[in-house]
Amino acid sequence: MFSAVTEDGQMVHLLGAQRSQKLKQRRFFCPACGGELDVKLGLQKAPHFAHKQNKSCSIYIEPESAYHLEGKRQLYVWLKTQQASPLLEPYIKKINQRPDIMAKFKRHMLAVEYQCANLAPDVFQKRTEGFKQEGIIPQWIVGNSRLKRTAPSFYQLSAFHWQFINASPYRELICYCPETRSFRRLSHIIPFYTNHSYSSVQTIPIHRAGVKDLFFTEPMPSFQYSGWTKAIHRFRHKPHRFISKETNRLRLLFYEKRQTPLSFLPTEVFVPVIKGAVFHSPVFVWQGFLYLFITDLGYKGAPIRFSAVLQQCKLHIYKKNISLRYECSEDCLSEAVKQYIDFLCKKGFLRETQKEIYMLNQPKEGIRSIQDLMERDRSCFIE
Ligand SMILES: [Zn+2]
Repeated sequence: MFSAVTEDGQMVHLLGAQRSQKLKQRRFFCPACGGELDVKLGLQKAPHFAHKQNKSCSIYIEPESAYHLEGKRQLYVWLKTQQASPLLEPYIKKINQRPDIMAKFKRHMLAVEYQCANLAPDVFQKRTEGFKQEGIIPQWIVGNSRLKRTAPSFYQLSAFHWQFINASPYRELICYCPETRSFRRLSHIIPFYTNHSYSSVQTIPIHRAGVKDLFFTEPMPSFQYSGWTKAIHRFRHKPHRFISKETNRLRLLFYEKRQTPLSFLPTEVFVPVIKGAVFHSPVFVWQGFLYLFITDLGYKGAPIRFSAVLQQCKLHIYKKNISLRYECSEDCLSEAVKQYIDFLCKKGFLRETQKEIYMLNQPKEGIRSIQDLMERDRSCFIE
């Protein structure tokens, strides 16, 4: 941390150019717990304070890497240029919390938390609640080093990232890299596999970033269908030797009912649905189970009711064939299923005959070649 209290009660910040020898002669204390602090003046990290060895603070303190300290410093300086009156590491006694930076924007109080280390869900929850209780908006920014790109427009996003995405009003992830001095804004996030998601991404150099645009404006996502189609192609060429329990259940069911191996799953189970983020299961698993239900009815010429498809989805969740990423309301689940059905209608796979009652348009077909399937993937998703 950069701030401490001196013996005579003065607040000190280590961001400016202090004389290091002078610092060594003084005593510093933690603003939160009152414990004595050491001044760290190494070459690896920016000058900072740390609790004396074997002493821990009464509040949670993120282990501060050089990356974290430098990022926090840059964010603080940036907020100053934005006239956002930033305060570095202020201790808020009432909630016993110390955000990295507090800033003011118009009538909003913001707690900017730059998160580079792991964060347990209960700690995240507690801190978020604490800020809200004080009327402060928590603004989480994740260390860019925690973000791994796996393919163009694809990122490895785990439960760590999803806690920030779910808490964000625009369901986005804002990252900051002190090395390239730029923000990365991930939005329109749609999972393909449990921990691999498609995302629209914007890179914004810090000198061009504004508080209003970054924190209070909905991101403008663009969906790259080509990136999504490539992910389907990679799936079709994968050996599928190590698969999860739920993928295996779907595999067996498709084989039994349609004599279709995993690599030949129909294009219709890879639909990019924004609300699909509610599912922890891969996209082809939750859509696969629904697809089988829809086509079972369709091949018999029976009507397909939306309520029945939703019911089927809930049944698979209950049977643990489909898992959820987070507890959600019935409405939220219903919206995801509706977006899926709407897409199938848009592509002419289903047609709505009465409100929320559908008929299957396509006749039953046998297995095509993988080339035919890939052509179909392309024509279905690239408009
Ligand atoms: Zn302390």
